[in-house]
Amino acid sequence: MTTAPSSPPMMRRWKARILRHRQLSPTAYELSLSRDGLDFRAGQLLVIHGRALTEDRNYTIASGENDNELRVLYRLIPSGVLTPHLAGKAEGEYVEISAPCGEFVLRDRARPIVFVATGTGIAPCRAYLRTYPELDMTVLHGVRTAEDLFYREEFAGRPYFPCVSAGAPGAFHGRVTDFSRTFDFPSDAHFYLCGANEMFYEMRDLLTARGIRPDALFTEAYYYRHEE
Ligand SMILES: Cc1cc2nc3c(=O)[nH]c(=O)nc-3n(C[C@H](O)[C@H](O)[C@H](O)COP(=O)(O)OP(=O)(O)OC[C@H]3O[C@@H](n4cnc5c(N)ncnc54)[C@H](O)[C@@H]3O)c2cc1C
Repeated sequence: MTTAPSSPPMMRRWKARILRHRQLSPTAYELSLSRDGLDFRAGQLLVIHGRALTEDRNYTIASGENDNELRVLYRLIPSGVLTPHLAGKAEGEYVEISAPCGEFVLRDRARPIVFVATGTGIAPCRAYLRTYPELDMTVLHGVRTAEDLFYREEFAGRPYFPCVSAGAPGAFHGRVTDFSRTFDFPSDAHFYLCGANEMFYEMRDLLTARGIRPDALFTEAYYYRHEE
C-alpha cells in the first residue's frame, strides 16, 4: 500500500494551548497541545517558536492523525536554548507553534517496517502506530536508562526490543546498534531511523553489509551524538 500522492497540508502559525505537561523521566517531558483543527500526516513535525528566530526548534508530533491533541515528547537539555524555557511552562499557558512540516512519513505501509529509535526519537513511531495499528512494524528502542523507554506499554503485543545501555530487566543490555548486529531483520523491510545521527551511520553500515539497499533506509536526525 504505497502512500497516495496528495497535496501536503498547509503550514500555519498560531498559539496552541498547553492542555497537559507531564514529566516522563528525570529529563523527559510530554507536552499536550490543542490541535486547533490542524491537518497533519503521521511522522510530521511542529516548530515551537522561542523568543527569537534562533530559538525555534522542531518537534515530531507524537500523536496519531485522528487524535484530538498534539503531543510532543522532549528532552530537557539544561544547557539548551529552548527546552529550559519550555520546561517552565504550565498547563493553560500557550506556546507559539507552526505546523505541519517535515517528510518523515511512511512510504509503503504494506511492507514490513523496522523502526529504530534512540531516546526521544521514538515519537514518530508512536504517531505511525496510533494512525495505522495494523502495520507490520518491529520496534527497536535504545536508551540509557529504563525510565526513558517512553510509551513501552503501547508497544505490548508487537515485536518490541528495548535496549538499555545501563542495563534493565527484560531489556537487551547495550546499545541498539549492538543489538542490531545479530538481529534477524526481514530482508524486504523498510527501515526508519530516528534520533541520534551517530546511530544512523552505524545502522547504515551494518545493514548495507547485510545486503539491505540504501533506498530502504529513511532517517530523521534530532541530534548528533549517541548521548542516550
Ligand atoms: C527534524 C527534527 C525533529 C526533532 N524532534 C524532536 C523531538 O520530537 N523531541 C526532542 O526532544 N527533540 C527533537 N528535536 C531536537 C529539538 O529540535 C531541539 O534541538 C532540542 O529540543 C534541544 O533544544 P534546545 O534549544 O533546548 O537545545 P540546543 O541548544 O538546541 O541543543 C543543545 C544540544 O542538545 C543535544 N540535543 C538536542 N536534542 C536532543 C535530544 N532530543 N536528546 C538528547 N540530546 C539532544 C544536541 O547535541 C544539541 O547540540 C528534533 C530536531 C530535528 C532537527
